[in-house]
Amino acid sequence: MFDKILIANRGEIALRVIRACREMGIQSVAVHSTADSDAMHVRMADESVCIGPPSSTQSYLSIPAIISACEITGAQAIHPGYGFLSENANFVQIVQDHDLTFIGPTADHIRTMGDKITAKDTMKALGVPCVPGSDGGVASLEEAEKIGKDIGYPVIIKATAGGGGKGMKVAQTAKDMKSAFQTARAEGKSNFGNDEVYIEKYLTTPRHIEIQVFGDGKGRAVHLGERDCSLQRRHQKVFEEAPGPSITAEERARIGKVCADAVAKINYIGAGTIEFLYENGEFYFIEMNTRLQVEHPVTEAIFGVDLVREQIRVAEGLPMSFGQDDLTINGHAIEVRINAEKLPNFSPCPGKITQFHAPGGLGVRMDSALYDGYSIPPYYDSLIGKLIVHGRDRPEALARLARALGELIVDGVDTTVPLFHALLQEPAVLSGDYNIHWLEHWLDENLQA
Ligand code: ADP
Repeated sequence: MFDKILIANRGEIALRVIRACREMGIQSVAVHSTADSDAMHVRMADESVCIGPPSSTQSYLSIPAIISACEITGAQAIHPGYGFLSENANFVQIVQDHDLTFIGPTADHIRTMGDKITAKDTMKALGVPCVPGSDGGVASLEEAEKIGKDIGYPVIIKATAGGGGKGMKVAQTAKDMKSAFQTARAEGKSNFGNDEVYIEKYLTTPRHIEIQVFGDGKGRAVHLGERDCSLQRRHQKVFEEAPGPSITAEERARIGKVCADAVAKINYIGAGTIEFLYENGEFYFIEMNTRLQVEHPVTEAIFGVDLVREQIRVAEGLPMSFGQDDLTINGHAIEVRINAEKLPNFSPCPGKITQFHAPGGLGVRMDSALYDGYSIPPYYDSLIGKLIVHGRDRPEALARLARALGELIVDGVDTTVPLFHALLQEPAVLSGDYNIHWLEHWLDENLQA
């Protein structure tokens, strides 16, 4: 058993991991940059180590600094959270070379799924349905144009190393191909150091449905149903729910089994998410995330499990505490991402929090590292909290969300809370009848000046 775990992250996800450690009787070590000396994760952990200046490349992404922090404190394992080093295969290798445990999948699994072309090939071979498109990388514009013609426009050109919505360009017609192809390549090169791109059919009205999987690394794996994360802005999720309003129990069981079987076959260990676009009753694989997702709490709510605790257990070599038959869905959960951003342009809005009050009551969970007087530094992601509500059914969860948003107070900075108040008035949101483009259109019509 681990006595001490270091959390290589900050903000709400660092608190999330510290909380799981405390319930398991494990000591926690926070790391922080000089900009985060007063951060909540530093206050809440049992120990903390300053690992560098504000810039994340010199702190939260500094592998030598994080390994040294483990050595100084005697931490035996590292939980990476999401973002930062969570999907860095090189980091995982270095962690292992130092006789430490990485709480997550193997370097090989991360490498395979981190390259989107290899990921797609692997999933296809494992029987997972994929979006029609090019067979691997596309090296020239001529080839891209030929593929566009073959599969039919619109198409999307994606950088194989892309992520976070970067390195993706849509070509609506053959005329757009040249600029889309060149931009996707350039973004891949400048953001991820890899200009390889591939092409997919661009689906016009899909939903984003992702399946939560969990493996023990020894050939046993389960699925924990789906999350619908179709409400997106610039390919970034803002509102997530489980179960998906459009998914039937039969579809869930079928696609869930395909995913669980696929990850069991590759001896996957820990939490993972297999993302699909879903249109006209068909699922199309787009990518796998080999880590805990921001939106994992909605799954925890409806299944009543602690995914971080489970990650720690399997990293220790213990069996999962549940099998597929133990996992039954109870009610409906919704998460909204609260960002320190100013509407209508969603420009980052760091600054001092003069007052913070988290909502509470039945079925309400607020994961946030804010406190009265905290100054949000300008160097990191603008996510400052996640409000998660759980009800017996979707209408109850929606009513609870409206009620909880009304209780939330975040003064001193602008936030995305007004967006959610407005969305809760929308018939499409209330009925669950939306696709991945709905929010962009709505923002164009209702918010953008
Ligand atoms: P990233 O790694 O940058 O998050 P993904 O491949 O997961 O990229 O895609 C992110 C989002 O982009 C999806 O949720 C969806 O909204 C959109 N998208 C990706 N592929 C397609 C496609 N083939 N057709 C339509 N939309 C797509």
